[in-house]
Amino acid sequence: MQQPGYGPDALVALDRQHLWHPYSAIPPTLDPVLVERADGVRLHLGDGRDVIDAMSSWWATIHGYNHAVLNEAVGRQLDDMAHVMFGGLTHRPAIELGALLCALTPEGLDRVFFSDSGSVAVEVAIKMALQHWGTQGHPERHRLLTVRSGYHGDTFMAMSVCDPDTGMHHLFDNTLPRQLFAPTPMPAFDQPFDPGNIEEFERLLASHQREIAAVILEPIVQGAGGMRFYAPAYLARVRALCDDYDTLLIADEIATGFGRTGKLFACEHAGISPDILCVGKALTGGYVSMAATLCTAEIAETISGGEGGGLMHGPTFMANPLACAVALASIRLLLASRWDQQVARIEVALRTGLEPARGLPGVDDVRVLGSIGVIETTDPVPMAQAQAIGLDHGVWLRPFGRLLYTMPAYVSTYDEVSTITDAMLAIVAALDDGRTAERAITAT
Ligand SMILES: *Cc1c(COP(=O)(O)O)cnc(C)c1O
Repeated sequence: MQQPGYGPDALVALDRQHLWHPYSAIPPTLDPVLVERADGVRLHLGDGRDVIDAMSSWWATIHGYNHAVLNEAVGRQLDDMAHVMFGGLTHRPAIELGALLCALTPEGLDRVFFSDSGSVAVEVAIKMALQHWGTQGHPERHRLLTVRSGYHGDTFMAMSVCDPDTGMHHLFDNTLPRQLFAPTPMPAFDQPFDPGNIEEFERLLASHQREIAAVILEPIVQGAGGMRFYAPAYLARVRALCDDYDTLLIADEIATGFGRTGKLFACEHAGISPDILCVGKALTGGYVSMAATLCTAEIAETISGGEGGGLMHGPTFMANPLACAVALASIRLLLASRWDQQVARIEVALRTGLEPARGLPGVDDVRVLGSIGVIETTDPVPMAQAQAIGLDHGVWLRPFGRLLYTMPAYVSTYDEVSTITDAMLAIVAALDDGRTAERAITAT
């Protein structure tokens, strides 16, 4: 709660003094923006401005902020219990959520492990794969095969399968396990697949088969590793190759799950089921940190019959009741809504709104899939300038590297999406003006 005496400026000064923010120094190079409240698709800032959150708080707030149904679910659960340990105890919200996730996710995923964040869900997925082989007398199957441009989280095993160039490998080189990297999945989502696109992947799988525990990748949409959309036929081939070479497939749907790509789960674009699936981010509608790792009954049986006597993981806040209750409410809300039509309408608005950026100086590519819109620039987008222009246009945008992107809440209206795309176009236009000005200065 804001204490008397701390105005917005004083609060931000305290923040600068004490707090780490994601991937930042202390003090940060750019002041964080103070948010006092949030409602629907809007953030109410400390300086009195109201802006549209074009990032959905990093893919999470699919129904918007301060939603009456989700608030009520949290309130009701709070009256019963905020938390109870999951070792030896169980509760209704966890059971109902687990059963619902098994029913909704691609076929065959019938066992659920709850954890507290996406990165941990990835660690658990990898642990499942390692224990699966270990209990069958194959401890040598301990490496992972993945693709470039991926992102799977910030804990150590997760980091080891992030893109080796854009990820943080160089900082932790001595510590990270060496994984196998196939080229970035190709072609783009709407381009015809060529068998040559997966040759190197298959070569790596074939030559390292005896040491590979699992293939891990983000289905269809690669998020923080490059915001790329690749062809469903590539994913279908990966599934077939994992079967041919008797390896497990881990699908990381932490960003793509719950409708973001136009399908409830991105695996559905290719009609495949992974052996292990990670979900997170939008799972609780953006209310509480929570994630889940699902696996097949067969994997669960193998692990459960092994020497450990079970899966060796157990977070303190595993299956937190508040998180489970709000996740359940969020998923039920999603299923009761016309989310597919909402996402389709946002897709049209994004395509229409971002199209003018194509071919502009400084723009490399414009791409849209479901409710994800991306402008890829030729040079890194200057964060401070981009953020300021976005806010002036009433929009919160947080570009990274050469990617200016948005994933609006599903409840966004066509006009709200247009406001977002207008802000993105204004940023791109200003970049070009900036460069023109630079060239003019250099020339004089
Ligand atoms: C965000 C993300 C993660 C990590 O989730 P956290 O909750 O930030 O730990 C892992 N994989 C993918 C694909 C993600 O987008």
